Amino acid sequence: MTARILVVDDIPANVKLLEARLLAEYFDVLTADDGPKALAIVESTSVDLILLDIMMPGMSGFEVCERLKANPRTAHIPVVMVTALDQPSDRVRGLKAGADDFLTKPVNDLQLISRVKSLVRLKTLSDELRIRSETARTIGMEDMLKGEGREEAGQILLVDSRASSQERIIKALKPVGEVTAMSDPQAALFEAAENPIDLVIVNGNSGEYDPLRLCSQLRSLERTRFIPLLLVTDLGDEDLIVRALDLGVNDYIVRPIDPNELVARTLTQIKRKRYNDRLRSSVRETIELAVTDGLTGLQNRRYLDNHLKTLFNRAAARGRSLSLCLVDIDRFKQVNDTYGHDVGDEVLKEFASRIRSTVRGADLACRYGGEEFVVVMPDTDAGQAAVIAERLRAMVETQPFHIRSLGINLTVTASLGIAGNEPGVETPDQLLKQADRALYEAKNGGRNRVVAFAA
Ligand code: GH3
Ligand code: MG
Ligand code: MG
Repeated sequence: MTARILVVDDIPANVKLLEARLLAEYFDVLTADDGPKALAIVESTSVDLILLDIMMPGMSGFEVCERLKANPRTAHIPVVMVTALDQPSDRVRGLKAGADDFLTKPVNDLQLISRVKSLVRLKTLSDELRIRSETARTIGMEDMLKGEGREEAGQILLVDSRASSQERIIKALKPVGEVTAMSDPQAALFEAAENPIDLVIVNGNSGEYDPLRLCSQLRSLERTRFIPLLLVTDLGDEDLIVRALDLGVNDYIVRPIDPNELVARTLTQIKRKRYNDRLRSSVRETIELAVTDGLTGLQNRRYLDNHLKTLFNRAAARGRSLSLCLVDIDRFKQVNDTYGHDVGDEVLKEFASRIRSTVRGADLACRYGGEEFVVVMPDTDAGQAAVIAERLRAMVETQPFHIRSLGINLTVTASLGIAGNEPGVETPDQLLKQADRALYEAKNGGRNRVVAFAA
């Protein structure tokens, strides 16, 4: 993970110490010895995370943090406040100033590296999401990212076998989420798999079960592997923490639990989960857009080119029949020439919707280009394909196309060519080519007809 970290502290020895540790992990490190210099650096270069001392002459860390968070250009950079252990009130002020996490002095190596890595990972995700949402905005598809900014209460699952600590944690988290508390790890695993959980907190305090076993189960189950995990551990239990982080636990907190720290870590993890979820669904939608025809909503040619191979090979492997129908609207150019391109588009949309209503769920319907469509029909032999094609042809011819914008009805016809995976047709390309030949014959034979390719 390469990331650029800005270390801000007025005491040179502190800066050197943090810098050395971060460099050892191959982070790129910038330093500043006061607030204004830090702000200037952030203005002029891109920074992935800021480690910010609180007590500095002139401008305090709180003020630096407030300024960073108030500026839309820097608000997304995670800020970790470095607080003194004996000043718990600093954490509250830090939270108010918008800090994302805390580290206490003297800074523990494991904490430093695990928290920096976790926040950098979160930022990478959110950067990616921002770029995507900017792209979506440019191409006028904000809808694609709707739901951004929606902040529902987080759903937190607490696994804790002691009633007293359950109560304390529930109380601390009340302002930021809805907590479901369970004492039995197996029941909790089931709960996490069955419900939309944003964070699981594992408090392995009783010795009755192995908290790491539960963590590893949560990480290996398909339905829980993406849920953030926060482990509650004892001070000095570094071995356990290292193993937990190796297992994919996202963060940990040391007993006795500081409620402010618990809130901050919980919020960070929930935020991370939400970014992840949005990113995943935006990737899904991007993929969807890339294979969908914008005008008709059918699959596009790119999708056909890929998927036809799969369907063709599957049919070959199973010894099943497969048919392909190429459909081309007759004299479509005249529609454009007579009524204009917009009316042409209306006809194309209606035509696509008739195709969609004719084919079965297992069939693949796509817009192959212009006014040409392809329907691929698995498990369909030449005879069945001819029946389906004829049904589509008749449905196009007999039901006039209503043009809403002009209040008129148009009669449209189409020509269809079919081919199947018969002997001699060895590749998807050949299948398409023969359907094309059949279509050519249908056009030559006077249009508005179905022709099947005969070897
Ligand atoms: P044929 O019966 O031989 O198929 O004649 P045709 O006019 O349908 O065929 P031709 O290939 O000559 O013309 C196709 C027309 O389809 C020309 C093009 O302007 C039009 N077209 C292609 N894509 C679109 C589109 O997205 N919208 C509209 N409105 N027209 C399109
Ligand atoms: Mg045509
Ligand atoms: Mg054409």
